[in-house]
Amino acid sequence: MKKVSIFHIFHNWNGCTCRVCGKTRDEGHDWNGCKCLICGKVRGTGHDWDGKTCLSKCRICGNKRGIWFINEGHDWNGCKCRICGQVRDAWHNWEFLDENVWEEILGQSVDDYSMGKAIHRSVRYRCRICGKEKEETETDWEC
Ligand SMILES: [Zn+2]
Ligand SMILES: [Zn+2]
Ligand SMILES: [Zn+2]
Ligand SMILES: [Zn+2]
Ligand SMILES: [Zn+2]
Repeated sequence: MKKVSIFHIFHNWNGCTCRVCGKTRDEGHDWNGCKCLICGKVRGTGHDWDGKTCLSKCRICGNKRGIWFINEGHDWNGCKCRICGQVRDAWHNWEFLDENVWEEILGQSVDDYSMGKAIHRSVRYRCRICGKEKEETETDWEC
């Protein structure tokens, strides 16, 4: 005869964890900040960061701050991280600043083949988020 293991039917919950079988459920946790004192589960809030950047570690759970956000570790708002303020050189939010146009006369005389005019146009932009500026120049040739 095979021995049949006996399943207990009634869990005896100590908050989130069963005293009898050790099974855990996602309710009744006893949160100490981000970590449950009973089962050790870690949640996304209540961390105690040891610094202001995304690479800071939580004193309670030891996880890096960034892992709670997108995979790069930072919570990017365009070019700037919402959490630590770090700026990356991508996804800037450019705003038109001003424009400069100037002419350049090419060549010395009518006999000169290259006689003509170059019109330079330079447009400056500033990032609404981080304040970085960029300049784009283009040149039109007139003969
Ligand atoms: Zn149980
Ligand atoms: Zn728990
Ligand atoms: Zn934590
Ligand atoms: Zn960051
Ligand atoms: Zn920017």
